[in-house]
Amino acid sequence: MKFKSILCTSVFCFAIYSCKTQTTKTVTKVESNTSVYDNYSYTTDSLLKHIKTLSSDAFEGRRTGTAGALKAKTYIIEALNKLDVGPLGAHYEQHFKFDKYDAVNVLGLIKGTEKNNKYIVISAHYDHEGVKNGKVYNGADDDASGVSALIAFAEHFKKNPPKHNVILAAFDAEELGLKGAYHFVKDNTIQQRNIVLNLNMDMISRSDKNELFAVGSRYYPKLKPAIDNYKKIGKANLLIGHEGLGDGDNWTYSSDHAAFHKAKIPFIYFGVADHEDYHKPTDDFERIDTVFYQDAVETILQVFKQYDALEL
Ligand SMILES: [Zn+2]
Repeated sequence: MKFKSILCTSVFCFAIYSCKTQTTKTVTKVESNTSVYDNYSYTTDSLLKHIKTLSSDAFEGRRTGTAGALKAKTYIIEALNKLDVGPLGAHYEQHFKFDKYDAVNVLGLIKGTEKNNKYIVISAHYDHEGVKNGKVYNGADDDASGVSALIAFAEHFKKNPPKHNVILAAFDAEELGLKGAYHFVKDNTIQQRNIVLNLNMDMISRSDKNELFAVGSRYYPKLKPAIDNYKKIGKANLLIGHEGLGDGDNWTYSSDHAAFHKAKIPFIYFGVADHEDYHKPTDDFERIDTVFYQDAVETILQVFKQYDALEL
């Protein structure tokens, strides 16, 4: 449960009851639904351990500048460090300030085996909404799912180093206006012209229709064949959409990839449609679909491999 208060009004007790009921339903659904895929490029148990931990009440909803965000930052750095991912600069942390906030991006680097001057940035945001009215907004899907996928990428790269340099970026302050991503791009830690691609993951762990959308190839046609030709594994259907063509909301500027797109850096954003727990205190680990999530992370990893083989 995410309720910080221990007040037990009748309304509160009802809320606990209804939440538990939902949780039981979800767990039953997942247990009866195993993946048809069994050759993951990373350890699925680790992926689930990370998302469960980062979206637990102990991290207090990870709001920028809070103790919970600091705890998340430390957790991510320790995970990257354990997997031999070094810092991009002298330290993993890239500090920045805006309004009343002290914020910090976490930036890791994996050196490429061939394309030493070109960088692919794989990103996810680790901040979320914090605690409001005594309720913890745990943000399991938004975006502990993306951050835990970053750690899965790190695990994969330990045994399979990429051709391009890869920056694993856990951005801060996405929920406050994509501030971490804008700061990273503007700061020129890596010169913009040397960043050849951003793959951004924000909300990738559940979909009633088993749909994982890839957004951005409309603007960067070179990136389209890898998605078009992708052969589905497991449960997640990879679809092109939400690019401002046809039906559906346009997600071109919906998350951190917007900062890259505005700087004319090619991007693909991976995400699912908004769901009933979106930006609600019920966005909990128990509500994700573990099989869809594992398969979505593998899908993104496989698409990455195709991009890594291209002349970007
Ligand atoms: Zn998000």
